This record gives sequence, C-alpha cells and structure tokens, in this order.
Amino acid sequence: MTSNSPRPESIAAQAGGHVEPAFGALIPAIFPATTFERNGDLSYPRGYSYARAANPTDVSAAETLTALEQGAETLLFGSGMAAATSVFLALEPGAHVVAPQVMYWALRSWLAGFAVHWGLRIAFVDTGDVDAVRAAVRPGVTRLVWVETPANPLWSLTDIAAVAEIAHAAGAVLAVDSTIATPVLSRPLGLGADIVMHSATKYLNGHSDVLAGSLTVARADALWESIRSVRVQHGGVLGPFESWLLQRGLRTLFPRVLWQSASALTLAERLSAHPGVEAVLYPGLPDFPGHELARRQMQGGFGGMLSVRVRGGAEAAVAAAARVRLWKRATSLGGVESLVEHRASVEGPGSPVPGDLLRLSVGIEAVEDLWDDLSGAITAR
Ligand SMILES: *Cc1c(COP(=O)(O)O)cnc(C)c1O
Repeated sequence: MTSNSPRPESIAAQAGGHVEPAFGALIPAIFPATTFERNGDLSYPRGYSYARAANPTDVSAAETLTALEQGAETLLFGSGMAAATSVFLALEPGAHVVAPQVMYWALRSWLAGFAVHWGLRIAFVDTGDVDAVRAAVRPGVTRLVWVETPANPLWSLTDIAAVAEIAHAAGAVLAVDSTIATPVLSRPLGLGADIVMHSATKYLNGHSDVLAGSLTVARADALWESIRSVRVQHGGVLGPFESWLLQRGLRTLFPRVLWQSASALTLAERLSAHPGVEAVLYPGLPDFPGHELARRQMQGGFGGMLSVRVRGGAEAAVAAAARVRLWKRATSLGGVESLVEHRASVEGPGSPVPGDLLRLSVGIEAVEDLWDDLSGAITAR
C-alpha cells in the first residue's frame, strides 16, 4: 500500500482492492442466497436479511462505483430505467420537475406519459441553454432538475456546474444521467450535482451482456432514503450474477472508454471530410456547439458516441446502415463492439431526431477497420 489514495484507474482495475476474506481470492465471490440466517436474539449478524433489501455481491460493485464517482453511496438497479424512474417516484405526486427536451428516448416517453399521469408537473426545456433552465425553475417549488450530458443522440452538452447553482438556489436537487460520459470522462458530483445516474448496461459493464443501472449520491439525505425505499419496495434490484459481471466489466472501464473516445474522435474528424456526410455531431469537434464546455467538463476524451447526418436524407442513411459489415446494426451502446442505429425509426413519430441521422457507438475494434467499413458504406450509392 502507498500512502496516497489510489487513483480512479487503480480503483477500477482492482475493483476497490478488496481481497475475499474466506480464501484470499482476488475476485469477489458470488452469493446467490436470497435469505440470511438470523440470530436467536433476532438480530442479523452481518446486516443481511433478504436479497431484495441488500445482497453481498451487489455491494462490492456498488462500492467501486461510489469510489469512482467520489460520492457517499451507490445503489444498483436491474436497469438504467429502474434507476432513473426511482428518482422521480421518490418525489411526491404534484412535485415540479425540470427535464431536457432531448434525452434518452425511453425515459422521455415515461416522463411524458406515466410520470405526468401519476402527477408530476414537468417542464421540458433545452437544458443546454442555462437561461432556459433558470426561467423554468420555480424557486421553492421545483424539487428536481434532471439533465443528461452529453445527451442522446445529438450529444448536446449541459453545463453541470451552472445548472447545479440554479437548482440549488431554487431549493431543488440536480440529477445527471452520465451514462455517455462515464466516471472516466466526467464527475458530475464534483461539479455540484447531487445524484449521478448510469445505465450500467452501457459503458460501465461494457460487454453488452448485463442490464443494470446505478445511482450515486453526494450526500445520503431524506430524498436518498426515499429512493432506497422505492428500490426495495418496487424490487428493481440487480441480481448477484449480474452484479458480479458488472464488477468484472468495471475493471476495464478506463482502457475501454479511453480507447473508444480516441477512435470516435478519429472517425468524427474523417467523417467530417467525407463527401457523403452532411454533418457530424461529436463534442470533440472544435466546431461543435458546446465543444468548449465539453473541454471544461470532460477530461481524457469526448466519449465513444457520435452521430452522422448522411447526405441524401433518411433513405440514404438507412441504405448506408444496410451496407455495413463489421459495424452491427443494433440498438444500445457502450459495448466493445461497434454499433450503428437509425434512431428516427426506433423512436417513431414525435421524435426530435432527424431522419438522416445515424447514431454510432464506437467499440474497440481496429479504427482503420471501422473507418474502411463505414466510409465505404456511406460512399456507395
Ligand atoms: C440506455 C440508457 C438508459 C436506460 O438504461 P437501461 O439500462 O436500458 O434501462 C438511460 N439513459 C441513457 C443515456 C441510456 O443510454
């Protein structure tokens, strides 16, 4: 042990550095038990009683994430949606909330549908515009400001520090969906956010084989206890095998995300000069609106997600996606394999996504192979 506390890369690589106590194993055990023995005096010797409340396998992955986000505590959920919706369900019906116009589509649909029906009052604003957030927040009334940065699938940036100040001045909490940035590139809690959310299905696990979500809090307050109750009572918890896989994925988070970010930047630069491309949306490009903010708010890269608007409209975009061979046509993102998706057809009517847009999730394949495949698919007519 060194006297300095380990850096995030080291914490991730060694999953917090814990050695399993029974046999000295370097990899944590999986405890599939749903129930735990109680003492004769009715106490629980290790604090575990029933797996919906807590299980020892998910604690290990949660602790690693708490260290990476530099928060107070992390709760893991059975999906990113279970994590995100638990925050909103922990508010009282009638609560006023500010949320982005452009954000992860399934959560936007749930907010506009279920959450409004359930009684939340939601102002959808362009959270990239600090003045618009200031105008939408109602002092003493707004309970929560929710932002996503960079935001799916246009990758627009929100100024976390500025919005945190506005939220706090109004007595509201700021929650950040940081799925795309990951703790490698951005630490929302350090910028003033109160809660950071991840779809751990994406980069945190990184291998497209676990559905999971997380919330990490800056301070365990009353809202956090309500969120914990929603999780335990609704049962949207993460099972032990998935928790174990997530822990395993977290160990390689840094090299994956840094590699993916570097490849995404290379592809974004080359695609910008491609005759079949109308525009490239990527926070790492100097002419991207929000590039300066991305430079301030993200370190080590701009992430593995970008979008291209294909010259020739929706038909040309769909045709280009049909021609790729190495890239896989599939939804989701953040895995080690590269994916291409025509978002407008997935989101359907009412989607703000242009029809000529292809969303690209850059994996860890050789960047030259990715370029050859994609540039060929876009050129051919
Ligand atoms: C995938 C995703 C979610 C939802 O997570 P699931 O694990 O699919 O439930 C939320 N936000 C963002 C940005 C995502 O990419």
